[in-house]
Amino acid sequence: MIVRKAEQRIAELLKPVAGEDARTEAVFLLRASGFHSPYQEITETDAKALEPLIERRLSGEPLQYVLGEWEFYGLPFYVDRTVLIPRPDTERLVETALPLLSESKRDVLDLCCGSGCIGVTLAVCGGANVTAADVSADALAMTERNARRNGVSVQTVQSDLFDSVEGAFDLIVCNPPYLTREEMDARDASLRFEPALALFGGEDGLDFYRRIASDYPRFLKPGGTLLIEIGMTQKDAVGAMFERCECIDDYGGRPRVIAVRNDD
Ligand code: GLN
Repeated sequence: MIVRKAEQRIAELLKPVAGEDARTEAVFLLRASGFHSPYQEITETDAKALEPLIERRLSGEPLQYVLGEWEFYGLPFYVDRTVLIPRPDTERLVETALPLLSESKRDVLDLCCGSGCIGVTLAVCGGANVTAADVSADALAMTERNARRNGVSVQTVQSDLFDSVEGAFDLIVCNPPYLTREEMDARDASLRFEPALALFGGEDGLDFYRRIASDYPRFLKPGGTLLIEIGMTQKDAVGAMFERCECIDDYGGRPRVIAVRNDD
């Protein structure tokens, strides 16, 4: 059978979970298994090897975990169920962060680093000198793998928010857990595969912002900036925690990043 035919068959199987993305997902699965060309022959044995991946996807596991990697800001990142899947929403935070970096302002703390997608991208695209912190040892190991994969090195520290972080930074970036209890209870099947530790922000979703707002000043250099991702409805609540801050919208006009500048 040729790859194109296999693509059709896999797409048919994936329809119940992937809907109209079934064909694209079939292409991704085939490519991840080394089949790039539509007219390449695929043997029965090769097709068999794809079955466990298809089964995992059919059980509702997100494609990104099944593939074991995903792209963020045009860079490849390993992912598994110990870390959140990098989301396009978070690219807005990276876009906001990059112009703030310079030769003299390159010390960056990526708090709640997860897969490391924010910090590693800032190291690759902005020459940042990155410290990546997370409470999860698995996340830190993944960040290190992703740094290596992208040809940079980052310093990792196991820390519950700022608790074990040392030093001061020009830029602190953070995508904390921010879902409310209600959102957690209502989360859809795919979110159930992601680590609750990385999603749940306390009853009202704001626990991490409260702690960040009280602790960040000690870790920010004069002239530095704190950039935090927020949920779409959290602008007012998080904004109220900081004396002066600015909110940056995503391309759909939804508020997604809070920027707090520390004046010189
Ligand atoms: N953006 C994620 C979601 O809504 C949540 C990520 C987070 O809690 N940091 O699914």
